[in-house]
Amino acid sequence: MAVDSAMPSPLGPPACEKDAKALQFIEETTRNADAVQERVLAEILSRNAETEYLKRFKLHGATERDTFKSLIPMITYEDLQPEIQRIANGDRSPILSAHPISEFLTSSGTSAGERKLMPTIQEELDRRQLLYSLLMPVMNLYVPGLDKGKGLYFLFVKAESKTPGGLLARPVLTSYYKSDHFKTRPYDPYNVQTSPNEAILCADSFQSMYSQMLCGLIERHQVLRLGAVFASGLLRAIRFLQLNWTQLAHDIRTGTLNQKITDPGIKDCVTRILKPQPELADFVAKECSKDNWEGIITRIWPNTKYLDVIVTGAMAQYIPTLDHYSGGLPLACTMYASSECYFGLNLNPMCKPSEVSYTIMPNMAYFEFLPHEPNSAWSTRGSAPKLVELVDVEVGKEYELVITTYAGLYRYRVGDILRVTGFHNSAPQFHFVRRKNVLLSIDSDKTDEAELQKAMENASEILRNFNTSVVEYTSYADTKTIPGHYVIYWELLVKDPANSPSQEVLNRCCLAMEESLNSVYRQGRVADNSIGPLEIRVVKNGTFEELMDYAISRGASINQYKVPRCVNFTPIMELLDSRVVSAHFSPGLPRWTPERRR
Ligand code: AMP
Repeated sequence: MAVDSAMPSPLGPPACEKDAKALQFIEETTRNADAVQERVLAEILSRNAETEYLKRFKLHGATERDTFKSLIPMITYEDLQPEIQRIANGDRSPILSAHPISEFLTSSGTSAGERKLMPTIQEELDRRQLLYSLLMPVMNLYVPGLDKGKGLYFLFVKAESKTPGGLLARPVLTSYYKSDHFKTRPYDPYNVQTSPNEAILCADSFQSMYSQMLCGLIERHQVLRLGAVFASGLLRAIRFLQLNWTQLAHDIRTGTLNQKITDPGIKDCVTRILKPQPELADFVAKECSKDNWEGIITRIWPNTKYLDVIVTGAMAQYIPTLDHYSGGLPLACTMYASSECYFGLNLNPMCKPSEVSYTIMPNMAYFEFLPHEPNSAWSTRGSAPKLVELVDVEVGKEYELVITTYAGLYRYRVGDILRVTGFHNSAPQFHFVRRKNVLLSIDSDKTDEAELQKAMENASEILRNFNTSVVEYTSYADTKTIPGHYVIYWELLVKDPANSPSQEVLNRCCLAMEESLNSVYRQGRVADNSIGPLEIRVVKNGTFEELMDYAISRGASINQYKVPRCVNFTPIMELLDSRVVSAHFSPGLPRWTPERRR
């Protein structure tokens, strides 16, 4: 029941007192966006006045925006590499932040093939927690009764490593799930989950997924929402069910736990809820043994009101598959965040994926916006660009996000391109357009054109022994199967047909490409099983010329035509696929360990 209007919210009637406070916080913070931004910047600059970085630019303790903007340069991760390396090597002096760096968060964005290391400080956990605490109050405005059931969320921790100086390096969500903020969160009837903490915190991904799925099946009638962080993660869970339902049904039938589950914490809590339930086991077996899995989510979890997964940006490619498995349940994209900083939330989470806009919360960091004009004079000649304040962005325009954080990133380019769709009070709302320079992505991997080119070059080395070269290539992220995989189309020039590369050699080329791709890709292949083996499809000679003819017939200029290094337009895919002469898959796994190569 909605509480009465003691604390009315323009967003709608809050579901409970706690929600009322959260909604009021959103209202106040967005109404005073500019003042909040001014305060945030002043706080960051005054507490960090004595850091080596700010002293280098002679800020002399100034905290006002104009001085900051005139003295501090806009930077990328690469500019900060020397400082980050020193911190990683154990330098504890206040280089970027006056507060001690508590750990590094390993971003899915990479630099020289390795995950970027984002320094963070202890109190950032509170800020992340604060943003999380706003999500359910907003959701409760749109979906009543979520306190009457549970959420089935597939959440995982990932491998950790230590820097040479002894700081932990791990993904932001691993850090959050392992924190007391998550582990000892107070009971909230609107946010009860079927997955026990022990299952989420188990580093073995099979045991973790198995036990989360088992608990979700046992409590199938209580489940009101189903989710994972990204769409790819939820689909991986569905695939897991396809592969493991027989054993899961067996456990439910007999009330005994699969021997492969050895984690004592998981065994303890799962055996407490696992009782012989032959009827449920029959039901699971009946549904899962059907050839057609269309609508499987709503068949197994009939009370699901929505899927809670991010399907904006690169994840949009999974919308049709999610619709297939869920019979078109609403897809809720609730928040926009990164390892560097959590940015904001979707105030209308039940809207269509194509209409999702994220409202940046002005208390999270100091935000600036670089007008995104790829061909403008400054971006080619390097003259100083003019950054725009949070409250001054213009509806319809695109910007690159630039942040200054409490943890010590100053005017840092995140690499995301956003388009302003409107305002909530004076805080702008953004459509996530894309991340810069990403060509291929299946899960959290992001492969850019330079990485693909390098991988191509390394693989084509193998062909040299066969007097063969790759004349042209393009690529495609194939997400029709789960997990998805990279497809690379090759047109070859075989100079000595008597010594042409064999099937086995071309398979090896697939693996050579994988070995050259960045560590996030390789982790997805090896540890997360979220990316399938890379495929090379060799196409007939002349195919790329046909591709050019096609582009020109559609109006491309013959002088400016360049082979697209990634394709996803159906007629082009059809053309390429109709010219395939052979297909090859990576025969093994590339090398990957949690330790960094550099
Ligand atoms: P990471 O640093 O690995 O946490 O990745 C953060 C990046 O993921 C962001 O900078 C975005 O490019 C992307 N991302 C995060 N949240 C969203 C979202 N809601 N929609 C689209 N892309 C997102």
